[in-house]
Amino acid sequence: MAVNQYEREKIIERTNDGLVQVARSGKYPYGGKMMYGYRRSQDNTLVIVTKEKEVIQSIYHQFINHTKLEDISKMLNITHNKSKFTTTFIRRILTNERYTGKLTYKKEVYKAIVPAIITKEEYDAAQKILNKKIRKKSNYLFAGKIYCSCGNIMTCTHGTNHLGNKYHYYQCKPCKSIISENKIIIQIDSRELEITNFDNTLIALEREYKNYTMKLSKIKKKYVLGAYNPEQYIILTTPLYNEQKKILQQKKALLAAGRVLTIGQIAKNNRKDYIDKVIAFITIPPNNLTEIRIKTK
Ligand SMILES: [Zn+2]
Repeated sequence: MAVNQYEREKIIERTNDGLVQVARSGKYPYGGKMMYGYRRSQDNTLVIVTKEKEVIQSIYHQFINHTKLEDISKMLNITHNKSKFTTTFIRRILTNERYTGKLTYKKEVYKAIVPAIITKEEYDAAQKILNKKIRKKSNYLFAGKIYCSCGNIMTCTHGTNHLGNKYHYYQCKPCKSIISENKIIIQIDSRELEITNFDNTLIALEREYKNYTMKLSKIKKKYVLGAYNPEQYIILTTPLYNEQKKILQQKKALLAAGRVLTIGQIAKNNRKDYIDKVIAFITIPPNNLTEIRIKTK
């Protein structure tokens, strides 16, 4: 078993090196589904698909001019008579730096692999607007989850302490009750919430891993039959091996953390995701005299 794992790691390392060579030769090093706007030519270079290019440019132009994602989506679905332009799709287009012609691969920047569809200025302008929106939305860890004992949802607000640091709190205006985000975190962590979806998460990871194994064996079969050359084979399989590697790491982290995880143990960037998965809502007692009530999912 140990030898197998070692050999697999070696293969991944070798193919990753091989892919850097692919990129250095001006070819697109990623396998799988081609990103919107391009098609792969026979020799693995990228070619712009004109109709898709027009959609991408239109998305950027509308967004930079402050059209909402939902409205861009509606507009595109009408003009293109399709329903595939979801807000998720549009967001993905708006955050893909490769459309500026810049491709970062294994820490190296390539400017001759992806033909540009938009300018760097347009991309930066879009990021500026997106970041503002994200910050507004995800700043508060418990947004929409904190209820006052009177039944009102508590609103997010912030203040500055004597050290000049910003802190978050939640308040019920009619009752004038207030609780700080830190206090909520401390109380949750003292409770050692059971992660009810621990087993499901584990099963899901294992299923995902198996799916990749199946995909890999399909590609291998085709390769053996001569459907791909070695370079194509590497391009197709490496992302899948890398995904499997990621899944193994996630599984390891999950098993190490165990069924009990505190918010304090989680990296700041991942806290909101975790809270969204585990906590349904929290009720704050009047005047904070007793402990908060936590309803898990
Ligand atoms: Zn209240």
